[in-house]
Amino acid sequence: MAPQLDGYFSKVDELSSHFIDRLSKAVAIPSISSEAARRPDVVRMGEWLQTELKALGAEVEMRPLGKQPDHPELDLPPVVLARYGRDKSKRTILVYGHYDDGRMFGRGSTDDKGPVLGWLNAIEAHQKAGVDFPVNLLMCFEGMEEYGSEGLEELIEKEGKGYFADADAVCISDNYWLGTEKPCLTYGLRGCNYYSVEISGPGADLHSGVFGGTAQEPMTDLVRVLGSLVDTHGKIQIPGIMEQVAAVTADEESLYDNISFTMDNLHESLGSKTTIFEDKKPTLMARWRYPSLSVHGVEGAFSAPGAKTVIPAKVIGKFSIRTVPDMDIDQTNECVYKFHTGKWWVASPNHWNFRAAGKAVERVWGVQPDFTREGGSIPVTLTFEQATGKNVLLLPMGSSTDGAHSINEKLDKKNYIEGIKLLGAYLHYVAEEQQI
Ligand SMILES: [Zn+2]
Repeated sequence: MAPQLDGYFSKVDELSSHFIDRLSKAVAIPSISSEAARRPDVVRMGEWLQTELKALGAEVEMRPLGKQPDHPELDLPPVVLARYGRDKSKRTILVYGHYDDGRMFGRGSTDDKGPVLGWLNAIEAHQKAGVDFPVNLLMCFEGMEEYGSEGLEELIEKEGKGYFADADAVCISDNYWLGTEKPCLTYGLRGCNYYSVEISGPGADLHSGVFGGTAQEPMTDLVRVLGSLVDTHGKIQIPGIMEQVAAVTADEESLYDNISFTMDNLHESLGSKTTIFEDKKPTLMARWRYPSLSVHGVEGAFSAPGAKTVIPAKVIGKFSIRTVPDMDIDQTNECVYKFHTGKWWVASPNHWNFRAAGKAVERVWGVQPDFTREGGSIPVTLTFEQATGKNVLLLPMGSSTDGAHSINEKLDKKNYIEGIKLLGAYLHYVAEEQQI
C-alpha cells in the first residue's frame, strides 16, 4: 500500500516561501570553513541550525571536535548531532549533511545547505500537516566538509555503536543529478589515491647556458615519468592496475543504455568537445567503473610567463588514480609510490533503503530514478558504512548545473521544494519497505 502523502505534499507547497526564506537566511551566513577569519561564521551557522532543530522539537547535541590540526589556534566547528523521535516501533534513519560553504559567492545553496534544511523542512511540514512522522531521524551535520571533514571520521567511528547505534540505514544528500531532468540514486563512488614523485639532482638550480648538456636534469626525468603513466586514450600504463578491475557483467552492461545522459551534457560541462570517447556508454563507464589517472601539477618548476633558462634542482610531480572495484589499495600502492589514499565505495542498489528511495522519486518526480555512480569521492560515505554496518544511500537534491563551489552556485526552486517532498516521501517509504 502506498503511503498517504497528499497532505504532506500540499503542506510543502503551502509553506514553500517560508522554506525559501529559511534557505536565504542560511545562505546569508558566510560559513566558509577554509577561511580562518570566517570560523566564527561557521560556528554561528551551526548554532543557527541548533536553534532551528530545537524549535522543531529535536534533541540536539553540539559536539566539539577540538583544535584544527594545521591551525592549532582555531577550534574546529562543532558537529550538530540531533534526534527526532524515539518510537521503538519505527525504523531509524541516519542522515548526514554539512553546513559549511566552499566559496564566498552564491555559496552553499545546493552544497549542502538546501539538502540539510530539506530534512528540517520535512519535519516542519509533517507537523503542520498533522501527519505522523514515519521514522525516527538521527541527524549528523558537520561544518568542515569543504576542508576535508577534519575530526569527523573519529566521531563517526566512535558513535557507530553509540549515538548512531539504532540506525537502520543511512541517507546522504550531498551530491547531484547526472543531468537537469532526471533524478538519480547513487550507489557507487570511485576512490582516490594521491601520489607525488620527487626527483632531485644538482644541489642548486642551474643555468642551462652553463650546465645544459652536462648535468642530469630532474625536470626532464619527471616529464618522462609523468608521460609514461597514462596514454592519450586515458589508458593507465602502470602494470598491475587494470588487471585488478572487476569484469563487466551482462547485468551491468544493460544498465547504461537507459541512463539519461548525452554527450551534449558532457560537452556543455567541459566547455569543449575534447572528449576521449564519442559515445555515452564508454564515457559513463570511464567515469564510474574504470580507474583513471590524472596529472595535477609540478612543484618547483618554472611557471611564470617569459623564457627563463633555469634548470630546476628539484621537482615534485603530483598525480592521482581514481580507484574502482575490485582494486586493492595496497596492491595499487605497490605499483605506485604511496602518498594518500581514499577507498572506492559501492552499495547494493537492491537494498530496501534504495527501493524506498526509488519509489519516493517515482512518486514525487513521476519517473524512475537512474541508478548512478560518481566519478568523484565522498569519503564520509564509506566511514558511515563501516561505522554503522548499514546500507548507505546517496540521494541528491540539486542538478548537474548547480555549479557547486563555483561563483554562480545555485539551487533551483523546483529542486528544493520537490526535494523537500522527496526527502519526506523517502522516509515514509523507508518506514514501510519490506526487509528483503
Ligand atoms: Zn557537499
